Amino acid sequence: MQARILLIYTGGTIGMGVNATTGVLEPLDFNKLLAHMPELQDIPAHVDVHQFAEPIDSSDMNPELWALIVDIIAQSYDAYDGFVILHGTDTMAFTASALSFMLENLTKPVILTGSQLPIGQLRTDGRENLITSIEIAAAKRSNGLPRVPEVCIYFSGKLLRGNRSTKVNSEGFNAFDTFNYPHLADAGVKINYNDELILRPDYSRPMIPHMAMDTGVVVFTLFPGIEERTVRYLLDAPNLHAVVMRTYGSGNAPQQQWLMAALQEASDNGIVIVNITQCAAGPVEMARYSGGFLLKNAGVISGFDGTVECATAKLMHLMAHYSDPAVIRNRMQQALCGEISIDPQTM
Ligand code: ASP
Repeated sequence: MQARILLIYTGGTIGMGVNATTGVLEPLDFNKLLAHMPELQDIPAHVDVHQFAEPIDSSDMNPELWALIVDIIAQSYDAYDGFVILHGTDTMAFTASALSFMLENLTKPVILTGSQLPIGQLRTDGRENLITSIEIAAAKRSNGLPRVPEVCIYFSGKLLRGNRSTKVNSEGFNAFDTFNYPHLADAGVKINYNDELILRPDYSRPMIPHMAMDTGVVVFTLFPGIEERTVRYLLDAPNLHAVVMRTYGSGNAPQQQWLMAALQEASDNGIVIVNITQCAAGPVEMARYSGGFLLKNAGVISGFDGTVECATAKLMHLMAHYSDPAVIRNRMQQALCGEISIDPQTM
């Protein structure tokens, strides 16, 4: 029997066309996209389409629209074998991270993809990305269970864990990677899956959709010369519940007394501060240098080898479900769906 796939079209370059007046790229109706891809009809899977009422550039993505995607998937969960989400590349890694927490115990593939060139253009990367994503969403293991029951990004020959992904190139076709986790599959002539790296959900339990997200979070980057008044202004922001602090190297920071005091006060006031490195690859190791050690003493917790996109989305999810900062800190230091690798030596 043919697999049944729901294609959710949110917008992004893949479905964009040039505005004749301004010359800029704008999202188009899915039917315009379809007109450039008659081969969609030939794919050996039954594909239904759900399109956003107003397709967007993914810079306009937000937690309400994440909840809408979750709702679409939850409503049609039993009717489909897998889901493909067409999404702009700019915030795809945030959406993939958010969905990985919002779709708890996911037992079916949710594959996000898009393209760097619109599907109507001759050299588009959109065709291959879309067709292979549908193939991956439809793929089964020999026991009939889905091959990839997790939220992934498929782009330019690589199948990546969604909550480990980062957009790495604004122009090249090779736009995504996971620096701290191997690819789940590589697509060449064949799709070679790394089955041992793919999550195994509990098939005896249902998938639990979560819609709520708390946006009281801020991401800030340390830099030489950062001023006390700026940091204090930020940490005093109304309704702030969490901070993703982008530190140096293995989780290091300037050893300034004012910085540690400001972070300590914020932590004591219940603000959860997560240490994520500015480096693209490698983990945070807070006990390695004195700067990191001082951060730890000031109440900052390790983000291990997680991405900024994932830490932000995970905090939004946890803060919407738990009010006790101790519980949020504890959950942040557990891998909920393969988003971090925990090495107790580096905590
Ligand atoms: N600005 C576009 C978007 O994120 C870029 C893309 O799709 O590649 O929607």
